[in-house]
Amino acid sequence: MRTFNKSTKLDNVLYDVRGPVVDEAARMEDEGKEILKLNIGNPYPFGFSAPQEVILDMLSNIRTSQGYSDSKGIFSARKAIMQYAQLRNIPNVSMNDIYTGNGVSELINLCMQALLDNGDEILIPAPDYPLWTATATLAGGNVVHYVCDEQSDWYPDIDDIRSKITDKTKAIVIINPNNPTGAVYPKEILEQIVQIAREKELIIFSDEIYDRLVMDGYEHTSIASLAPDVFCVTFSGLSKSHMIAGFRIGWMILSGAKDKAKGYIEGIKMLSSMRLCSNVPAQSIVQTALGGYQSVTEYIKPGGRVYEQRECIYNALRDIPGISVVKPHAAFYIFPKIDTEKFNITDDEQFALDFLHEKQVLLVPGKGFNWMQPDHFRVVYLPNIRQLERASEKLREFLSTYRQR
Ligand code: PLP
Repeated sequence: MRTFNKSTKLDNVLYDVRGPVVDEAARMEDEGKEILKLNIGNPYPFGFSAPQEVILDMLSNIRTSQGYSDSKGIFSARKAIMQYAQLRNIPNVSMNDIYTGNGVSELINLCMQALLDNGDEILIPAPDYPLWTATATLAGGNVVHYVCDEQSDWYPDIDDIRSKITDKTKAIVIINPNNPTGAVYPKEILEQIVQIAREKELIIFSDEIYDRLVMDGYEHTSIASLAPDVFCVTFSGLSKSHMIAGFRIGWMILSGAKDKAKGYIEGIKMLSSMRLCSNVPAQSIVQTALGGYQSVTEYIKPGGRVYEQRECIYNALRDIPGISVVKPHAAFYIFPKIDTEKFNITDDEQFALDFLHEKQVLLVPGKGFNWMQPDHFRVVYLPNIRQLERASEKLREFLSTYRQR
């Protein structure tokens, strides 16, 4: 009998944010159990919504959005994104340097496919948002992880970055603000990364999808603004800032030393044309979304939902014996550390499964973010305070007797 297997291209691709623990939770739901899901950064199901004007804009544009657009995107969207780039001091950006995508996800994949040959190396943080590692691996690249240091507020470890560069390294990825740690990188760290990219002639990919979800007076700097002489690709979108992850709209901005990347840009253009264009109704709201009422600022200030939920989960977690945690200052994730000796944990996936089975709460183990020690997990703090308190209480109860076998 002929059977069909997945392509060997996928053999080394790991994408656990929607992996085995999530599958097990879905199976339990099929059995009728109620699961508290702290696993995915999708704001709408937790009661967040876009500003009304964005929804109205989409409704009024739907008739005229029936055709394909230019493969990079419609004029009004790219014009608004260009202005957004100017406000962030990203140098040397024209309309031609802006591409819209079906979420940042599509553009990350496109950039990896267009760049990497088999064996090329790319530096990606650990922990990371795992799409980066997955798409770079799928494209044939060798992912080399550099460490973000929990002892230093989860900032990238510059010495570790330097030590991992070889002749084959083509690019470095940063995720700032970070998922899963919630860190916002200071200018000094970004300047050091730019210096490395300059010296070693690397491309910088900067995933900034949480740039408008920064709390506590921290300031977000686009690394591209510090690197007019380095080829940079900056990614952002509306999934998180406007709570419309389902609309699928993101963008990327090419800046800096574009003359050194002419061939690569040809590849990006080709792949962009091959997917025809991104979702046109979603492009049609970009101008209103970026130029209009920023409801997200209400969510992230003291008294706002995201801010107060962050306070709640941070205080609750650090109060649990055996858990320690760095306070996140952006996005809606927290990445606590668990005392593996105390609980005899050698497998973080098993820990997440055990907790799921006993308490019906879904967390993602650190492994899902390419964190190779079994001592972390990620919590999404989008659920309301009552749910977060319940989840923390369940974790406390669970850990009071847990020993991994
Ligand atoms: N980058 C990071 C760091 C993310 O956390 C996410 C989604 O969670 C994405 C990219 C993908 O976003 P999009 O909805 O624009 O595809």
